Amino acid sequence: MSQVPSAAWRPYYQGLLEQVTEQYQAIPDGAPVRLAKATSNLFRPRAQSTTAGLDVKAFDGVLAVDPITCTAEVLGMTTYEHLVDATLAYGLMPMCVPQLRTITLGGAVTGLGIESASFRFGTPHESVLEMDILTGDGHILTVTGAEGDPHRDLFYGFPNSYGSLGYALRLKIELEPVKKYVRLRHVPFATATAMAAAISQIVDSGSQGQYSFQGQQVDFCDGTVFSPTEQYLTLGLMTDELPDGQRPSDYTGMDIYYRSVQSKTEDVLTIKDYLWRWDTDWFWCSRAFGAQRTFIRRLWPKAKLRSDVYWKLVALDRKWDLSGKLAKAQHKPAREPVVQDIEVPVDQLAAFLDFFHSQVQIEPIWVCPLKQRDPRARWPLYEFDPAQTYVNVGFWSTVAVPDGATPEDGVINRLIEAKVTELDGRKSLYSTAFYARDDFYAIYGGAEYQVLKSTYDPTARLLGLYEKVVERR
Ligand SMILES: Cc1cc2nc3c(=O)[nH]c(=O)nc-3n(C[C@H](O)[C@H](O)[C@H](O)COP(=O)(O)OP(=O)(O)OC[C@H]3O[C@@H](n4cnc5c(N)ncnc54)[C@H](O)[C@@H]3O)c2cc1C
Repeated sequence: MSQVPSAAWRPYYQGLLEQVTEQYQAIPDGAPVRLAKATSNLFRPRAQSTTAGLDVKAFDGVLAVDPITCTAEVLGMTTYEHLVDATLAYGLMPMCVPQLRTITLGGAVTGLGIESASFRFGTPHESVLEMDILTGDGHILTVTGAEGDPHRDLFYGFPNSYGSLGYALRLKIELEPVKKYVRLRHVPFATATAMAAAISQIVDSGSQGQYSFQGQQVDFCDGTVFSPTEQYLTLGLMTDELPDGQRPSDYTGMDIYYRSVQSKTEDVLTIKDYLWRWDTDWFWCSRAFGAQRTFIRRLWPKAKLRSDVYWKLVALDRKWDLSGKLAKAQHKPAREPVVQDIEVPVDQLAAFLDFFHSQVQIEPIWVCPLKQRDPRARWPLYEFDPAQTYVNVGFWSTVAVPDGATPEDGVINRLIEAKVTELDGRKSLYSTAFYARDDFYAIYGGAEYQVLKSTYDPTARLLGLYEKVVERR
């Protein structure tokens, strides 16, 4: 993270803008423009780029935090780990903190994000007040979404554009005051229908002034599904006080958070450990690397139990096709990566999970309720019905490919895509997608996207959304 002088950030920031402008101008006319970033949380494999990208390392830093207005000025490539460190120092947090430490603010706004406060505050872009965007045609525009802003369309069209219209260089965001600890209740449900009913109850209770469940306030809500008959909602309540003698749990070492969901009914974490509870074991995906076996975990350095370390292992596996070769040597079927987050209306959650348990069979599964924060807003590239409660369903694993198919055919991923569309849901675009072009743009705001693209990137210096997401260019 760059060290940012917070009191006098404007001249410092101006210097960064000059540097990035020089870099943009040094790229030959007509040549593609792309980002060179140190980390990524895009799962789909991408073609190797032959051109140098814009070096945006210096855009990782928090310019200023204002505890009076509860806002922060943040550089676009700031990781949430750095952002949370800077805001917690003031007793504040971003309104939606995605679970993986190296997701950046700009990445989460352009690629959407979700977390356990999303039933109160929606997704990260819904607490952005202002952005500076380097557009495909090389201009740096300040966009606010206010009536009268000539670039209002870019403000609303930026979420889910995945860097295909421009890059966010600075974002002014709203923050929420926090308390020291989060007290957790893991509430079991024997059916998905019962869990969905509880989610609706919690989200709807907000209209009476306070989100609550069974008489207790709810600040955070997500869930873990282990089987059709075993699922839990984890309800979090912020507090400054712990009863005498109670110490917060620690899941950054030998103990594993997701297992505690099944074994404890109540728990307490510091606010910081709560925000990163899923990063330590990349939800549960660290088990694929042996990191949950006691003897390996003892040897694994605690500081290396992090999602970005597992990412590096995934990259090595991809480079050398280690799992593919192992499966072949053991005469086992090849496996298709099924790594996706989707959203369905809450009353379709049980139908989706029934389908998933019978046809896909990956467990555990993560669920997280979500409601659009401002019912009047319209985000055309990823449009929700503002009156509707949605549930995000996340699953990250592999399945054996059916006879005669290859992993690249995406048989299971296509099945999931079709089911999500049938249930009036949406699929996040950070991973593989298989839609035909017309179907894709019918879902993701095609007509408005084409207008935005021709306005802000008229000579197509940036890859288009379909080319990036589906064609993986
Ligand atoms: C296994 C897995 C689990 C995930 N789980 C969650 C989750 O639980 N919650 C959640 O919120 N998200 C989750 N994500 C999705 C993640 O939030 C998105 O992929 C997000 O876009 C990643 O941001 P990044 O900063 O790592 O961006 P990158 O991966 O570096 O880039 C993503 C895309 O955004 C573009 N981009 C990056 N920075 C900018 C910028 N400043 N301006 C414009 N465009 C930019 C890039 O060009 C690229 O197309 C998950 C992803 C994976 C792979």
